[in-house]
Amino acid sequence: MSDDAHDQQIVHVIIVGGGIGGLFAANALIAHGLNVAVYEQAPAIGEIGAGVFLTPNSVRQLERVGLGAAVARCGARVGRESRYFRDDGTPIAPVQVTDSAGWNATFGMHRADVVEILSTALPPGVVHTGHRAIGFEQEGEVAKVRFANGAVAQGDVVVAADGIHSELRPFVFPPSRPVFSGSVSYRGLVAHARIAPWPTDAWQMWLGKAKHFLAFPVRAGELINYVGFVPADAEMKESWSAPGDPAVLRREFAGWDARIARLLAQVETTFRWALYDREPLPTWTHGRLTLLGDAAHPMLPHLGQGANQAIEDGMALATILKRADRAGAPAALLAYERLRRERVAAVQREARENGLRYDSFYADLAVRDAEIAAHADFRRRLYDHDVVPDAQAVAASL
Ligand SMILES: Cc1cc2nc3c(=O)[nH]c(=O)nc-3n(C[C@H](O)[C@H](O)[C@H](O)COP(=O)(O)OP(=O)(O)OC[C@H]3O[C@@H](n4cnc5c(N)ncnc54)[C@H](O)[C@@H]3O)c2cc1C
Repeated sequence: MSDDAHDQQIVHVIIVGGGIGGLFAANALIAHGLNVAVYEQAPAIGEIGAGVFLTPNSVRQLERVGLGAAVARCGARVGRESRYFRDDGTPIAPVQVTDSAGWNATFGMHRADVVEILSTALPPGVVHTGHRAIGFEQEGEVAKVRFANGAVAQGDVVVAADGIHSELRPFVFPPSRPVFSGSVSYRGLVAHARIAPWPTDAWQMWLGKAKHFLAFPVRAGELINYVGFVPADAEMKESWSAPGDPAVLRREFAGWDARIARLLAQVETTFRWALYDREPLPTWTHGRLTLLGDAAHPMLPHLGQGANQAIEDGMALATILKRADRAGAPAALLAYERLRRERVAAVQREARENGLRYDSFYADLAVRDAEIAAHADFRRRLYDHDVVPDAQAVAASL
């Protein structure tokens, strides 16, 4: 085949959304030799001041696109001192931080660092900021996205990685409202120097009635990320995200382990998020359009898997699309969806279940504690998963 004929066959992918899901997918697709353009609505690529926990199932994929060293450098690897505690500080159980082989690739990361690592790894010109997608259409072998600024992008495939409020999702499946969990999370970062000797290598969670509190290090331990999960009041139900009041946050956890009070005493600003997910979708794909990350499967944060699953999605998509030509791209998207839908739905469901454990909806706390300890098995299986061999098998059968 001549170079021109070969280039004609390379699938051109348009990704809408430059969050962790869209940017990782772009890296994975480029590593597999596809043409990619990313369109992000914000005027610049960036993220909120909060943490995200990366686990071996996604770090394995970040390593495959050459980003493992950057993650290890910018992150904070958490280790064997990671623990669950009762609200009074009594230890419950260790936290699973490795896969079954004992590979410790669990990192607390600043979200901005993850986005920076992913976006700077892309060749210049791939990311187009200031493009808010407002429409999608497809005809024959052409898929088009329309943007609010009047631009139109044209490709063989469109990947909607535009988050829980996805603008493109209704082109795949009828619109529906996300499901409110009844909880909100207060999130933020505290300089480690202000709370030293707080551990810089431990993921720690405290569990109490209808609330739980999480802290883990990010940025090589310079900062400690905290998240306080509490029941929502009426006002919070109305807003997806809004500045929170540190004094209210401190009151929510008054009387808990003194370590929490010491950390919260240093909080000057905090942000709160209402926690929503969606029921698993019966389909993610319509012709040349497919969904990825939170656009496909928003989940509650009680397994810390939303971003990790988005990264698995991106690697699966790239592995499968690499084997497709332009005419075969829709079949490849359906194969990607089939491979991912069941695993992600199981993680979505388990995130809900785990939230009930974390919020201690149990008459007998000893039962909760036993379940928390036993949950390490689920995490080992989650972390052992490597999406690539399965995706290769699917691609080979196309
Ligand atoms: C409290 C909390 C804690 C969490 N902790 C973890 C954790 O520890 N580990 C983990 O794995 N996950 C965690 N998550 C989940 C994780 O944050 C999400 O699952 C993940 O960020 C999803 O990435 P995404 O790229 O799919 O979507 P998003 O991060 O929402 O990115 C979507 C992007 O699309 C852009 N966009 C939206 N609409 C348009 C449009 N019309 N046109 C163009 N661009 C558009 C947005 O600006 C954004 O940049 C947590 C979530 C919460 C709420």
